[in-house]
Amino acid sequence: MKKLFGKKKKKQITAKKRYTEVRKCRFCKMTMKGIDYKDILNLQKLTSGQGKLFSRKRSGNCATHQRFAKIAIKRARFMALMPYVG
Ligand SMILES: [Zn+2]
Repeated sequence: MKKLFGKKKKKQITAKKRYTEVRKCRFCKMTMKGIDYKDILNLQKLTSGQGKLFSRKRSGNCATHQRFAKIAIKRARFMALMPYVG
């Protein structure tokens, strides 16, 4: 039993590391104020394969840029540049 618990702990640490790798907001690095709904290459990095928007923890964005990304992705979906979930 003890060995099993040890293995579980190791897995949790690796999962945490994966999340903490990305720390700084990519849009703050590029000194961008807003996010354009037409640059799909950047927006696709913030969504999963299904088209779901990544969380702030996963994407590494700051609060303001996550908000801009949310609006930009919703606009891109409406203009049929990006898929809705599914
Ligand atoms: Zn930012």
